[in-house]
Amino acid sequence: MGKRDDIVNEAVSGGGRVGEISEKAGEKTFRKMAKIGGDVAKWITREFERTGIPIEILRRLEARDDHVCQLTHRRISTDLWEADHIVPVDSGGGNNLSNLQVLCRHHNRQKSDKNWEEFEREWRQNPTDCG
Ligand SMILES: [Zn+2]
Repeated sequence: MGKRDDIVNEAVSGGGRVGEISEKAGEKTFRKMAKIGGDVAKWITREFERTGIPIEILRRLEARDDHVCQLTHRRISTDLWEADHIVPVDSGGGNNLSNLQVLCRHHNRQKSDKNWEEFEREWRQNPTDCG
């Protein structure tokens, strides 16, 4: 197993169940991932810093949604990936994987704190490309 696999396994199994991993374990993993570099690690560390979503949750989100904006279902480059809270944090949405999805930066900023159904309906009336 490669170094990256070890780190990912540690992130997933390290502190117990997902969502219950201690902040300290998250920080330790964050530092390791920042060191190994690479597109996925860069995306994960950037989104961890931007949103505070735990590293292991971001890792699982990346594995599930791949490089695909969940609004347009188009592949996007790593520098455009953002983690979106489907139900916004201000409306009580949490950092659980079922409340998260990958959107491109443009569509995530456009969605802002709207709920998903409202935003998707508006977008269908006036679709814009990923960016
Ligand atoms: Zn998009």
